[in-house]
This record gives sequence, C-alpha cells and structure tokens, in this order.
Amino acid sequence: MTNTTAELEGLLMQRSLTDPQLLAAAAAAADFRILPDASVIKIGGQSVIDRGRAAVYPLVDEIVAVRKRHQLLIGTGAGTRARHLYSIAAELNLPAGVLSQLGASVADQNAAMLGQLLAKHGISLVSGAGLSAVPLYLAEVNAVVFSGMPPYSLWTRPPTEGVIPPYRTDAGCYLIAEQFGCKSMIFVKDEDGLYTENPKTSKNAILIPKISVDEMKARGLHDSILEFPMLDLLKSAHHVREVQVVNGLVPGNLTRALDGEHVGTIITAS
Ligand code: ADP
Ligand code: MG
Repeated sequence: MTNTTAELEGLLMQRSLTDPQLLAAAAAAADFRILPDASVIKIGGQSVIDRGRAAVYPLVDEIVAVRKRHQLLIGTGAGTRARHLYSIAAELNLPAGVLSQLGASVADQNAAMLGQLLAKHGISLVSGAGLSAVPLYLAEVNAVVFSGMPPYSLWTRPPTEGVIPPYRTDAGCYLIAEQFGCKSMIFVKDEDGLYTENPKTSKNAILIPKISVDEMKARGLHDSILEFPMLDLLKSAHHVREVQVVNGLVPGNLTRALDGEHVGTIITAS
C-alpha cells in the first residue's frame, strides 16, 4: 500500500523520525531508482591500477567497447600509496578522519589518470559522483569516471579499533550503486573471485562462485576480498542486493559480467 504525502507528513510532524510506524509508512512508498540502467564498476587500486599499463590498458579498451552497450559509472580504488600514507599517518597518531582525506587523495590520483586515458573517447572525470552532471554525461557518452572514496573526510565515523577509515573505496563505489538504484555493481580486482583463503598466501585456496553475506561471516571471510563494512551495507540494501567480484586481469571478464554472466564470485545480501 502506498501512503499519500499527507499521511506521511502527518506521521512526520507528530512522531520521532525513527518511529517504527513512520519508518514502515515511508518504506511502503513505491520503489524508485534514479539510474536503473547504469552499472557501477570499481577498478581496484592495489589489485589493478598499481599494476600499471599491463593491467590498465586492456581494461581501458574493454571499457571503451562495452560502454556502447552499457552505461558505466567507473570508480577508482586507492591502493599501495594509500597504504603507505596510512602507515605514516597512523604512526604519527593522526585520526581516522585525516587518514580518510589522505586515502581520498590517492583515489583521486587514480581517477585523474584513468580520466586522461579515457579522455579521447569523450569519457570525463567528474569530481564527486553526486548527481550534478552525471546523468548528462551518461546520456551523451554512456560513461563517467569518479574517485571511489566516499567523501566522509574528517567526518568519518571512527572505527572501534585503530585509525584506518572503515569505509573506503569498495564501500564508496557500492554506495553510489545502491543510492542511484543501479543495475549492477562489479568489483574489478586481480583474483578470480572469493576463495576459501587468501589465494596470494595459500596454495590450497578454493574458489567460491557464490556466497551470501551471512555465509561469508560464518566462514570467517568477512575481511577478505571486500572491505568488511561492505557486507552490512549489502545486507540492508534496497536495490543492489548482490555484487560480483571479477578478475580484471582476464580480458573479457568485465564485459561478460556487465552482460549478466557469472564469471567471478557473486556475493548476495541473503
Ligand atoms: P582493491 O585493489 O580493489 O582495493 P584489494 O587488494 O583490497 O582490492 O583486495 C583484493 C585482494 O584481496 C586480492 O588481491 C587478495 O590478495 C585479497 N584477498 C584476501 N583474502 C582473500 C580471499 N579469501 N579471496 C580472494 N582474495 C582475497
Ligand atoms: Mg582494497
């Protein structure tokens, strides 16, 4: 049942903003997706961009070809330079909000480089993926590049332990997909998907093609291939209830994933 604006307003004026009846009434409103035909892809920082030309050029070619058929919001990770900054800043006892700003500057650098590589194809870097001109870019050239770090900056909610900002570029890109109600969210990294253990350090790691958030937590994989707060964001999502992690070092994987094929690990909300 859909509530009228007047009914909602009635509740809003009288109740606490977290009143259960008010929340239920608001949730009953018809579903609306802002950019339902677009997909968000995150190009990994450490896993892809830090590998340089060998990893990045083939992906650029793939993006240029596939955007003819798919609308793309292309977010960037941060990676090794951010980890270096975090280690220096943490040792200096600087807080999470400052580390968040530092990490964002590295994701910005990666977005700047990717933007230059895509420039001749008319694909622009937008500063902040907030609405502004994004729909216009998508309508014109089917793609934009954005920096993947969420703009929490100094207002980052401090982690319970340590000073590493918990919401980094996996979360930043995913939140864009969820808020815009996008069609899909694809994480482009350097492994075939989620394994039973880190494949970089364990020879016996076995690929898991599909898994739910709860299973991931139960198997102790909550802090592995995606930032761990991502799992809770996914679990409570309204629109993007599954994400796929693919190996971007294998040509064609990104295209196939955008076409809806299962080429990596699909992580589901339930
Ligand atoms: P990004 O470049 O997008 O930030 P990360 O490097 O943070 O990506 O995450 C991908 C990495 O996660 C992989 O390269 C892999 O080394 C690591 N990893 C840790 N545990 C796992 C696991 N169980 N399965 C797959 N990858 C894992
Ligand atoms: Mg990472």
